[in-house]
Amino acid sequence: MVDFSGGCFCGAVRYKASGDPVRMVNCHCDTCRKITGSAFATNIFMKAEDVTVTQGETTVFEHGADSGNRLNKEFCPTCGSQIFSYRLDGPPLRGIKVGSIDDAGFVQPTANLYATRALHFTHISDDLINYDEMPT
Ligand SMILES: [Zn+2]
Ligand SMILES: [Zn+2]
Repeated sequence: MVDFSGGCFCGAVRYKASGDPVRMVNCHCDTCRKITGSAFATNIFMKAEDVTVTQGETTVFEHGADSGNRLNKEFCPTCGSQIFSYRLDGPPLRGIKVGSIDDAGFVQPTANLYATRALHFTHISDDLINYDEMPT
């Protein structure tokens, strides 16, 4: 059980979350790289009802994934920070970008997704479960 808050860089969008994280993973896919502008994304998935936007509104961008799934990305319309990411046709989960969390000290990813696509300078720990691509 964790309680945390977060938001975008400029402060226009704020949220809070409370509950047991369903999973915490690093994703090295091309989409996560492009959308975050970084080497990989760390996402925490919470039950959708455990996450509440408390201030401002996100802009939603819908896109397709390699798997054929449709996903939403939610970001701040003012500063562009990525905040949420989730499947439209999947379980009612909300993925939260770890960088948006105010105090992310509790975060411990358990797995790397698309580990084979990790950039050569990204350390892939043998202590985690490393999937070549997206596990089914
Ligand atoms: Zn913002
Ligand atoms: Zn990804």
